[in-house]
Amino acid sequence: MTYLRPSIDAMEAYVPGFQPPDITSWIKLNTNENSYPPSPKVVEAVVAELGTDGKRLHTYPSASSQQLRDVAGDIFGFDPSWIIMANGSDEVLNNLIRAVVSEGEEIGYVHPSYSYYATLAAIQGARVKTYGLTDDFCIAGFPERYPGKLFFLTTPNAPLGPAFSIDYIEELARRCEGVLVLDETYADFAEGNALELVRKCDNVVITRSLSKSYALAGMRLGLAIARPEIIAALDKIRDHYNLDRLAQAACVAALKDQPYLKAMCRAICETREWFSGQLRSIGYDVIPSQGNYVFATPPDRNGKRVYEELYGRKILVRHFSDPLLVHGLRISIGTREEMEMTLAALAEIG
Ligand SMILES: *Cc1c(COP(=O)(O)O)cnc(C)c1O
Repeated sequence: MTYLRPSIDAMEAYVPGFQPPDITSWIKLNTNENSYPPSPKVVEAVVAELGTDGKRLHTYPSASSQQLRDVAGDIFGFDPSWIIMANGSDEVLNNLIRAVVSEGEEIGYVHPSYSYYATLAAIQGARVKTYGLTDDFCIAGFPERYPGKLFFLTTPNAPLGPAFSIDYIEELARRCEGVLVLDETYADFAEGNALELVRKCDNVVITRSLSKSYALAGMRLGLAIARPEIIAALDKIRDHYNLDRLAQAACVAALKDQPYLKAMCRAICETREWFSGQLRSIGYDVIPSQGNYVFATPPDRNGKRVYEELYGRKILVRHFSDPLLVHGLRISIGTREEMEMTLAALAEIG
């Protein structure tokens, strides 16, 4: 006998990427965090918000995070009524499925992509349909009319790296009868993004994260851009104080410092291209990536062996046991120095 809902009792918990306790003694390239620090203005803003006596912490933060929506609206070119802030983009992905999908209804996503979608579907009691990818990076067998209530499209794709073209995404939006969520967590590292489709297609929602490109994974900040009626629904569902005071201060400062963001992303993309070329020169197969990571396959196609060899040298990358991914590794792009050390280790491992 259990007191739990059957679907919760039966589901597997999501397993986040490994965070070693002695984190500073590792080269940590397993969860696509940013190896650079956030903008110095973020630190200043958080320290100012905290004050010397923590005096502001005894009052609730802004419930609507309105200042953040205004700043994000400016940057992305939308009225603030099209924007909602989230305690990490994971929160808004969760609230989207709660807003749109009833128990027993269908959601879809591409496999491989972000495995948290499966967890969210299980919590909601939704049915899941997954689609593979073709060699030319389209969705295999996507129907002329996709009848599910919601489809998650990760673009650029993680863990593989390529982004879908804007024309192709627009076509998918027209083929979806429900909502198409574009998880653009990695868009700041990509050549383009699909922001214009939010205006063009009434069923498109975009989610963004400050975890990777803004180097703020520890602050838990994300957002969604969508039509005001969808934003209003998400506002009904979220925790009313979903962003704490320090996170709100950090977010405003981070969003305002676009030159810092752009310089950091440029450096990471340059390192990504250099590292990809070097890996190919030692016999690796590397999928061209638009994110801050590459999916790379060693010459003997034994991803596990290389993962373990790197682990023994205190270099942490991501290996997936999924049959579609088991041959390779997802390696986050850190600083140039970290990638030089990783490359030297890989050359030695063979
Ligand atoms: C990291 C990641 C997220 C979660 O981002 P948070 O803002 O840290 O919650 C969502 N989607 C994808 C594809 C990711 O890689």
